[in-house]
Amino acid sequence: MKIISKNKKLLCPNCSSNKIKKLKLYLSAKDFEIFTCMACDLSFKENTNEDKELSFEDGDYYSKKNVGDKVNQRYKKHFLRRAKNHIDHIENFIGKDLNKSVLDIGCGAGLFIEHLQSKGWKVEGIEPDPNMFNHAKNKLNLNVQKKLFSEWESEQKFGLIYLSHILDDLPNLKGVLTKINASLEKEGILFVEVPNLSSKLRINFEKEAELLAGKYFFSINSLKDTLERSGFKILNVKTFRLVHLNSIFQILISPIMFLLHFMPDKYKPYLRIIAKKENE
Ligand SMILES: [Zn+2]
Repeated sequence: MKIISKNKKLLCPNCSSNKIKKLKLYLSAKDFEIFTCMACDLSFKENTNEDKELSFEDGDYYSKKNVGDKVNQRYKKHFLRRAKNHIDHIENFIGKDLNKSVLDIGCGAGLFIEHLQSKGWKVEGIEPDPNMFNHAKNKLNLNVQKKLFSEWESEQKFGLIYLSHILDDLPNLKGVLTKINASLEKEGILFVEVPNLSSKLRINFEKEAELLAGKYFFSINSLKDTLERSGFKILNVKTFRLVHLNSIFQILISPIMFLLHFMPDKYKPYLRIIAKKENE
């Protein structure tokens, strides 16, 4: 068993503050610790047992995510609906002159870029998971590379870079955002969606499997701060709760689900930010 980074002096990976507090985890997370920066509110995982790290390349990452690792009808329906919803939202912030080219980092089975390609966009995806890559590349015939973002290189600049439930899982947050910024054209748009952990209680009670996949745990404030420090201007912040048609009945009959419906916006479980590359 190898422990990554035990005992080094902890600094916040976003703002470098040394005002760091260890979070008490109520569930049985034995293989890592989570700390919160008191200055910028970013939470991050430390002292991880390397043997328990999820690998993007071995096919064990998607099985830990809620949506699962099977590209079946349910999966396709979910991601196509999400793709339409996301691009409708993004289009509100796109300038007339924006180059309609998109890079999807962690594109999964490729359903978002397939939808954009059908709307006339030039698309590129990166996906290290063998099963997801195979679907995107061989079933959908999309322009996708099987690699990690850290291994990806390109001279091309994109009009849109899209990270849906991935920024929180990639190591080296600062390096990732610097590379994304450099890969956007002037006025290029960044889309980021992550779990909203504006309430630290949610991290404490999160299921262990979900904590295993994440490396960073963002609140509204820490995601805004992190993006601004990496050269982005925030255009829109939205928190929301997913409502599937088949869960409306559950909402009506479950008192807890019904009460969650009235949760303040700040604590809704998902967080989406649209940002623009600031002019150099
Ligand atoms: Zn910080």
